[in-house]
Amino acid sequence: MIIKEFIANLALLGTLLFLYSQVIMKKPLQLHSSAKTKLIAGICGGFVSIVLMLFSINIGDLLVDLRFIPTLLLAFYGGAFPALISMAMTIIFRFILSAEIISLYALIISVTGTLFAIFFSRVKFSAKIRIFSIYTFNNIIFSIFFVYLSEDPAIIMEVLTLYWLISYISTFLTFYLIRYIRESQALFAKYKNDSLTDSLTGLNNVRKFDEEFNRFVHDVKSSDQQLSLLYIDIDYFKKINDTYGHKEGDIVLIELGARLQKATRNFDIVSRNGGEEFTVLLLDCPAARAVEIAERIRDSVEKDAFLLSTGKSIYITVSVGVASYRETTENPAMLIDDADSALYLAKHLGRNRVCVAS
Ligand code: GH3
Ligand code: MG
Ligand code: MG
Repeated sequence: MIIKEFIANLALLGTLLFLYSQVIMKKPLQLHSSAKTKLIAGICGGFVSIVLMLFSINIGDLLVDLRFIPTLLLAFYGGAFPALISMAMTIIFRFILSAEIISLYALIISVTGTLFAIFFSRVKFSAKIRIFSIYTFNNIIFSIFFVYLSEDPAIIMEVLTLYWLISYISTFLTFYLIRYIRESQALFAKYKNDSLTDSLTGLNNVRKFDEEFNRFVHDVKSSDQQLSLLYIDIDYFKKINDTYGHKEGDIVLIELGARLQKATRNFDIVSRNGGEEFTVLLLDCPAARAVEIAERIRDSVEKDAFLLSTGKSIYITVSVGVASYRETTENPAMLIDDADSALYLAKHLGRNRVCVAS
Protein backbone atom coordinates (compact mmCIF):
# COMPACT_ATOMS: atom_id res chain seq x y z
CA MET A 1 0.00 0.00 0.00
CA ILE A 2 2.79 2.39 0.96
CA ILE A 3 4.65 1.45 -2.23
CA LYS A 4 1.54 2.19 -4.27
CA GLU A 5 1.09 5.60 -2.65
CA PHE A 6 4.75 6.35 -3.05
CA ILE A 7 4.69 5.56 -6.77
CA ALA A 8 1.60 7.78 -7.14
CA ASN A 9 3.49 10.59 -5.36
CA LEU A 10 6.50 10.18 -7.61
CA ALA A 11 4.29 10.27 -10.72
CA LEU A 12 2.65 13.41 -9.35
CA LEU A 13 6.00 15.03 -8.63
CA GLY A 14 7.25 14.17 -12.14
CA THR A 15 4.12 15.64 -13.74
CA LEU A 16 4.30 18.83 -11.67
CA LEU A 17 7.98 19.26 -12.47
CA PHE A 18 7.23 18.88 -16.15
CA LEU A 19 4.46 21.49 -15.94
CA TYR A 20 6.80 23.74 -13.98
CA SER A 21 9.46 23.35 -16.68
CA GLN A 22 6.91 24.48 -19.27
CA VAL A 23 6.13 27.60 -17.24
CA ILE A 24 9.57 28.72 -16.23
CA MET A 25 12.38 26.66 -17.66
CA LYS A 26 12.47 28.48 -20.98
CA LYS A 27 14.70 30.62 -18.77
CA PRO A 28 16.05 28.01 -16.31
CA LEU A 29 16.36 29.19 -12.72
CA GLN A 30 19.89 30.22 -11.83
CA LEU A 31 21.59 32.08 -9.00
CA HIS A 32 21.75 35.21 -11.18
CA SER A 33 18.18 34.93 -12.51
CA SER A 34 16.06 38.07 -12.21
CA ALA A 35 14.07 38.66 -9.00
CA LYS A 36 10.89 38.12 -11.04
CA THR A 37 12.02 34.69 -12.28
CA LYS A 38 13.00 33.72 -8.73
CA LEU A 39 9.67 34.91 -7.37
CA ILE A 40 7.72 32.89 -9.94
CA ALA A 41 9.94 29.85 -9.32
CA GLY A 42 9.45 30.18 -5.56
CA ILE A 43 5.65 30.43 -5.87
CA CYS A 44 5.51 27.49 -8.30
CA GLY A 45 7.72 25.46 -5.93
CA GLY A 46 5.41 26.37 -3.04
CA PHE A 47 2.38 25.16 -4.99
CA VAL A 48 4.09 21.90 -5.93
CA SER A 49 4.95 21.34 -2.24
CA ILE A 50 1.36 22.04 -1.18
CA VAL A 51 -0.06 19.61 -3.74
CA LEU A 52 2.44 16.99 -2.53
CA MET A 53 1.28 17.61 1.05
CA LEU A 54 -2.29 16.87 0.01
CA PHE A 55 -1.09 13.47 -1.19
CA SER A 56 0.78 12.53 1.99
CA ILE A 57 1.58 8.85 2.56
CA ASN A 58 0.43 7.19 5.76
CA ILE A 59 3.23 5.40 7.59
CA GLY A 60 1.81 4.24 10.92
CA ASP A 61 0.34 7.37 12.51
CA LEU A 62 2.67 9.58 10.57
CA LEU A 63 2.04 11.50 7.34
CA VAL A 64 5.08 11.42 5.12
CA ASP A 65 5.28 13.37 1.87
CA LEU A 66 7.71 14.76 -0.68
CA ARG A 67 7.01 18.43 0.09
CA PHE A 68 10.63 19.13 1.00
CA ILE A 69 11.92 18.23 -2.49
CA PRO A 70 10.86 21.39 -4.41
CA THR A 71 12.11 23.81 -1.74
CA LEU A 72 15.51 22.16 -1.46
CA LEU A 73 15.87 22.05 -5.25
CA LEU A 74 15.01 25.76 -5.42
CA ALA A 75 17.76 26.47 -2.88
CA PHE A 76 20.15 24.39 -4.95
CA TYR A 77 19.42 26.09 -8.29
CA GLY A 78 18.17 29.56 -7.34
CA GLY A 79 19.55 30.35 -3.89
CA ALA A 80 17.83 31.77 -0.81
CA PHE A 81 15.05 33.90 -2.29
CA PRO A 82 12.96 31.29 -4.18
CA ALA A 83 13.66 28.64 -1.52
CA LEU A 84 12.39 30.87 1.30
CA ILE A 85 9.22 31.75 -0.63
CA SER A 86 8.46 28.09 -1.24
CA MET A 87 9.32 27.24 2.38
CA ALA A 88 7.07 29.99 3.73
CA MET A 89 4.14 28.84 1.56
CA THR A 90 4.61 25.25 2.74
CA ILE A 91 4.74 26.25 6.41
CA ILE A 92 1.69 28.51 6.18
CA PHE A 93 -0.29 25.78 4.45
CA ARG A 94 0.80 23.23 7.06
CA PHE A 95 -0.61 25.47 9.80
CA ILE A 96 -3.81 26.03 7.83
CA LEU A 97 -4.20 22.25 7.57
CA SER A 98 -3.75 21.80 11.31
CA ALA A 99 -2.24 24.09 13.90
CA GLU A 100 -0.89 21.57 16.38
CA ILE A 101 2.47 20.82 17.97
CA ILE A 102 3.39 18.46 15.12
CA SER A 103 3.06 21.40 12.69
CA LEU A 104 5.62 23.24 14.78
CA TYR A 105 8.04 20.30 14.47
CA ALA A 106 7.38 20.30 10.72
CA LEU A 107 8.25 24.01 10.70
CA ILE A 108 11.56 23.42 12.48
CA ILE A 109 12.48 20.58 10.10
CA SER A 110 11.53 22.71 7.12
CA VAL A 111 13.46 25.83 8.24
CA THR A 112 16.58 23.89 9.27
CA GLY A 113 16.61 21.83 6.08
CA THR A 114 16.09 24.88 3.86
CA LEU A 115 18.78 26.95 5.59
CA PHE A 116 21.23 24.09 5.31
CA ALA A 117 20.35 23.69 1.63
CA ILE A 118 20.87 27.43 0.98
CA PHE A 119 24.25 27.28 2.68
CA PHE A 120 25.45 23.93 1.32
CA SER A 121 24.39 24.58 -2.29
CA ARG A 122 27.23 27.08 -2.59
CA VAL A 123 29.94 24.81 -1.18
CA LYS A 124 32.55 23.77 -3.74
CA PHE A 125 31.65 20.10 -4.16
CA SER A 126 30.20 18.32 -7.19
CA ALA A 127 26.46 18.77 -7.79
CA LYS A 128 25.79 15.13 -6.84
CA ILE A 129 27.58 15.42 -3.49
CA ARG A 130 25.83 18.70 -2.66
CA ILE A 131 22.37 17.33 -3.51
CA PHE A 132 23.08 14.09 -1.62
CA SER A 133 24.28 16.03 1.44
CA ILE A 134 21.31 18.42 1.42
CA TYR A 135 18.77 15.60 1.41
CA THR A 136 20.76 13.51 3.86
CA PHE A 137 20.79 16.44 6.30
CA ASN A 138 17.04 16.77 5.85
CA ASN A 139 16.58 13.05 6.58
CA ILE A 140 18.73 13.29 9.71
CA ILE A 141 16.71 16.22 11.10
CA PHE A 142 13.50 14.33 10.39
CA SER A 143 14.88 11.19 12.05
CA ILE A 144 15.95 13.07 15.19
CA PHE A 145 12.45 14.48 15.63
CA PHE A 146 10.85 11.14 14.89
CA VAL A 147 12.99 9.27 17.41
CA TYR A 148 12.24 11.99 19.98
CA LEU A 149 8.48 11.70 19.39
CA SER A 150 8.16 7.97 19.09
CA GLU A 151 8.60 5.33 21.77
CA ASP A 152 8.41 2.03 19.97
CA PRO A 153 11.84 1.06 18.57
CA ALA A 154 10.26 -1.35 16.07
CA ILE A 155 8.11 1.41 14.58
CA ILE A 156 11.07 3.80 14.58
CA MET A 157 13.13 1.33 12.57
CA GLU A 158 10.34 0.57 10.13
CA VAL A 159 9.29 4.18 9.54
CA LEU A 160 12.80 5.57 9.26
CA THR A 161 13.91 2.84 6.86
CA LEU A 162 10.95 3.63 4.62
CA TYR A 163 11.41 7.35 5.01
CA TRP A 164 15.10 7.28 4.03
CA LEU A 165 14.39 4.97 1.11
CA ILE A 166 11.54 7.11 -0.19
CA SER A 167 13.54 10.29 0.27
CA TYR A 168 16.61 9.03 -1.59
CA ILE A 169 14.70 7.39 -4.43
CA SER A 170 12.56 10.46 -5.06
CA THR A 171 15.52 12.84 -4.77
CA PHE A 172 17.54 10.75 -7.19
CA LEU A 173 14.72 10.55 -9.74
CA THR A 174 13.80 14.23 -9.42
CA PHE A 175 17.38 15.37 -9.76
CA TYR A 176 17.85 13.35 -12.95
CA LEU A 177 14.51 14.46 -14.35
CA ILE A 178 15.38 18.13 -13.79
CA ARG A 179 18.83 17.70 -15.23
CA TYR A 180 17.37 15.99 -18.27
CA ILE A 181 14.80 18.78 -18.79
CA ARG A 182 17.41 21.51 -18.31
CA GLU A 183 19.90 19.90 -20.68
CA SER A 184 17.25 19.27 -23.35
CA GLN A 185 16.07 22.84 -23.15
CA ALA A 186 19.60 24.24 -23.31
CA LEU A 187 20.34 22.05 -26.35
CA PHE A 188 17.09 23.05 -27.99
CA ALA A 189 17.91 26.75 -27.48
CA LYS A 190 21.42 26.22 -28.84
CA TYR A 191 20.27 24.34 -31.96
CA LYS A 192 17.53 26.88 -32.56
CA ASN A 193 20.08 29.69 -32.36
CA ASP A 194 22.58 27.78 -34.55
CA SER A 195 19.93 27.17 -37.18
CA LEU A 196 19.39 30.93 -37.50
CA THR A 197 23.00 32.09 -37.30
CA ASP A 198 25.70 32.12 -39.96
CA SER A 199 28.50 30.12 -38.35
CA LEU A 200 31.30 32.03 -40.11
CA THR A 201 30.35 35.63 -39.30
CA GLY A 202 27.92 35.18 -36.41
CA LEU A 203 25.39 37.31 -38.34
CA ASN A 204 21.83 36.21 -39.10
CA ASN A 205 21.72 33.58 -41.82
CA VAL A 206 19.32 33.71 -44.74
CA ARG A 207 16.64 31.80 -42.82
CA LYS A 208 16.67 34.33 -40.00
CA PHE A 209 16.80 37.14 -42.55
CA ASP A 210 13.63 35.80 -44.21
CA GLU A 211 11.91 35.51 -40.85
CA GLU A 212 12.79 39.10 -39.87
CA PHE A 213 12.09 40.45 -43.34
CA ASN A 214 8.59 38.95 -43.41
CA ARG A 215 7.91 40.24 -39.90
CA PHE A 216 8.91 43.81 -40.75
CA VAL A 217 7.15 43.76 -44.11
CA HIS A 218 3.99 42.74 -42.28
CA ASP A 219 4.43 45.40 -39.57
CA VAL A 220 5.40 48.27 -41.85
CA LYS A 221 2.20 47.96 -43.89
CA SER A 222 0.08 48.80 -40.87
CA SER A 223 2.23 51.75 -39.77
CA ASP A 224 3.46 54.93 -41.40
CA GLN A 225 7.10 53.88 -41.05
CA GLN A 226 9.63 53.43 -43.81
CA LEU A 227 11.79 50.38 -44.40
CA SER A 228 14.99 50.25 -46.44
CA LEU A 229 17.14 47.38 -47.58
CA LEU A 230 20.81 47.37 -48.57
CA TYR A 231 22.01 44.46 -50.70
CA ILE A 232 25.80 44.28 -50.51
CA ASP A 233 28.12 42.11 -52.61
CA ILE A 234 31.92 42.00 -52.55
CA ASP A 235 33.45 42.87 -55.92
CA TYR A 236 35.60 40.21 -57.60
CA PHE A 237 35.63 38.10 -54.46
CA LYS A 238 36.48 35.01 -56.46
CA LYS A 239 39.82 36.65 -57.26
CA ILE A 240 40.56 37.13 -53.54
CA ASN A 241 39.97 33.42 -52.96
CA ASP A 242 42.05 32.50 -55.99
CA THR A 243 44.93 34.78 -54.97
CA TYR A 244 45.11 34.30 -51.20
CA GLY A 245 43.16 31.09 -50.62
CA HIS A 246 39.70 30.26 -49.32
CA LYS A 247 40.73 30.63 -45.67
CA GLU A 248 41.89 34.20 -46.19
CA GLY A 249 38.65 34.82 -48.10
CA ASP A 250 36.80 33.73 -44.97
CA ILE A 251 38.73 36.28 -42.91
CA VAL A 252 37.59 39.02 -45.28
CA LEU A 253 33.97 37.85 -44.90
CA ILE A 254 34.23 37.87 -41.09
CA GLU A 255 35.76 41.36 -41.08
CA LEU A 256 33.15 42.74 -43.46
CA GLY A 257 30.40 41.29 -41.26
CA ALA A 258 31.88 43.04 -38.24
CA ARG A 259 32.16 46.34 -40.13
CA LEU A 260 28.54 46.15 -41.24
CA GLN A 261 27.41 45.68 -37.68
CA LYS A 262 29.52 48.60 -36.55
CA ALA A 263 28.14 50.85 -39.28
CA THR A 264 24.50 50.21 -38.38
CA ARG A 265 22.25 50.68 -35.35
CA ASN A 266 21.87 47.69 -33.08
CA PHE A 267 18.22 47.16 -34.02
CA ASP A 268 18.97 47.02 -37.75
CA ILE A 269 19.04 43.49 -39.17
CA VAL A 270 22.45 42.57 -40.58
CA SER A 271 22.64 39.20 -42.33
CA ARG A 272 24.89 37.12 -44.52
CA ASN A 273 22.51 35.92 -47.19
CA GLY A 274 25.00 33.55 -48.81
CA GLY A 275 28.57 33.45 -50.19
CA GLU A 276 29.86 37.03 -50.25
CA GLU A 277 26.40 38.64 -50.20
CA PHE A 278 25.16 40.56 -47.18
CA THR A 279 22.02 42.55 -46.42
CA VAL A 280 21.16 45.29 -43.98
CA LEU A 281 17.51 45.85 -43.20
CA LEU A 282 17.23 49.44 -41.96
CA LEU A 283 14.18 49.94 -39.78
CA ASP A 284 12.20 53.16 -40.07
CA CYS A 285 14.80 54.58 -42.44
CA PRO A 286 14.02 56.72 -45.54
CA ALA A 287 15.81 56.22 -48.87
CA ALA A 288 18.14 59.23 -48.55
CA ARG A 289 19.38 58.05 -45.16
CA ALA A 290 19.78 54.48 -46.46
CA VAL A 291 21.92 55.75 -49.35
CA GLU A 292 24.03 57.73 -46.88
CA ILE A 293 24.63 54.60 -44.77
CA ALA A 294 25.36 52.51 -47.89
CA GLU A 295 27.81 55.12 -49.13
CA ARG A 296 29.53 55.24 -45.74
CA ILE A 297 29.91 51.44 -45.77
CA ARG A 298 31.20 51.41 -49.35
CA ASP A 299 33.66 54.20 -48.60
CA SER A 300 35.06 52.60 -45.44
CA VAL A 301 35.47 49.21 -47.16
CA GLU A 302 37.37 50.87 -49.99
CA LYS A 303 39.62 52.99 -47.74
CA ASP A 304 40.35 50.74 -44.76
CA ALA A 305 42.52 47.74 -45.56
CA PHE A 306 41.52 44.18 -44.59
CA LEU A 307 44.18 42.37 -42.59
CA LEU A 308 44.81 38.74 -43.56
CA SER A 309 46.15 36.06 -41.23
CA THR A 310 49.52 36.25 -42.99
CA GLY A 311 49.82 39.88 -41.82
CA LYS A 312 49.25 41.14 -45.34
CA SER A 313 46.79 44.01 -45.83
CA ILE A 314 44.55 43.97 -48.87
CA TYR A 315 42.02 46.40 -50.29
CA ILE A 316 38.61 45.33 -51.53
CA THR A 317 35.46 47.07 -52.71
CA VAL A 318 31.75 46.36 -52.46
CA SER A 319 28.75 47.20 -54.59
CA VAL A 320 25.47 48.07 -52.90
CA GLY A 321 21.86 48.07 -54.10
CA VAL A 322 19.35 50.14 -52.12
CA ALA A 323 15.57 49.88 -52.09
CA SER A 324 13.19 51.72 -49.82
CA TYR A 325 9.54 51.07 -49.08
CA ARG A 326 7.29 53.99 -50.07
CA GLU A 327 9.99 55.85 -52.07
CA THR A 328 11.46 53.32 -54.53
CA THR A 329 9.21 50.36 -53.88
CA GLU A 330 5.44 50.37 -53.47
CA ASN A 331 5.05 46.82 -52.24
CA PRO A 332 7.41 46.13 -49.30
CA ALA A 333 7.54 42.44 -50.25
CA MET A 334 9.37 43.55 -53.42
CA LEU A 335 12.24 45.20 -51.48
CA ILE A 336 14.58 42.22 -51.98
CA ASP A 337 13.98 42.04 -55.74
CA ASP A 338 14.37 45.79 -56.12
CA ALA A 339 17.55 46.00 -54.03
CA ASP A 340 18.95 43.05 -55.97
CA SER A 341 18.19 44.76 -59.29
CA ALA A 342 19.90 47.92 -58.00
CA LEU A 343 22.91 45.81 -57.01
CA TYR A 344 22.98 44.28 -60.48
CA LEU A 345 23.00 47.79 -61.94
CA ALA A 346 25.89 48.82 -59.64
CA LYS A 347 27.90 45.81 -60.88
CA HIS A 348 26.99 46.63 -64.47
CA LEU A 349 28.10 50.26 -64.08
CA GLY A 350 31.57 49.20 -62.99
CA ARG A 351 31.26 48.10 -59.29
CA ASN A 352 32.40 49.89 -56.10
CA ARG A 353 29.27 52.02 -56.10
CA VAL A 354 25.84 52.45 -54.54
CA CYS A 355 22.78 52.29 -56.79
CA VAL A 356 19.18 53.00 -55.81
CA ALA A 357 16.26 51.03 -57.18
CA SER A 358 14.26 52.98 -59.69
P1 GH3 B 1 31.33 40.10 -58.67
O1 GH3 B 1 32.11 41.34 -58.56
O2 GH3 B 1 30.56 40.03 -59.96
O3 GH3 B 1 30.46 39.91 -57.51
O4 GH3 B 1 32.38 38.92 -58.72
P2 GH3 B 1 32.66 37.83 -57.64
O5 GH3 B 1 33.92 37.14 -57.96
O6 GH3 B 1 32.58 38.44 -56.27
O7 GH3 B 1 31.38 36.92 -57.76
P3 GH3 B 1 31.19 35.39 -57.99
O8 GH3 B 1 29.75 35.14 -57.71
O9 GH3 B 1 31.72 34.97 -59.33
O10 GH3 B 1 32.07 34.70 -56.89
C1 GH3 B 1 31.70 34.64 -55.58
C2 GH3 B 1 32.73 33.82 -54.88
O11 GH3 B 1 32.48 33.74 -53.48
C3 GH3 B 1 32.78 32.39 -55.37
C4 GH3 B 1 32.93 31.55 -54.13
O12 GH3 B 1 34.07 30.75 -54.18
C5 GH3 B 1 33.12 32.56 -53.04
N1 GH3 B 1 32.53 32.12 -51.79
C6 GH3 B 1 31.25 31.78 -51.55
N2 GH3 B 1 31.10 31.43 -50.26
C7 GH3 B 1 32.30 31.55 -49.67
C8 GH3 B 1 32.80 31.30 -48.35
O13 GH3 B 1 32.08 30.93 -47.42
N3 GH3 B 1 34.13 31.53 -48.11
C9 GH3 B 1 34.95 31.96 -49.11
N4 GH3 B 1 36.23 32.16 -48.81
N5 GH3 B 1 34.51 32.17 -50.36
C10 GH3 B 1 33.22 31.97 -50.63
MG1 MG C 1 30.78 39.30 -55.60
MG1 MG D 1 27.74 37.34 -55.34
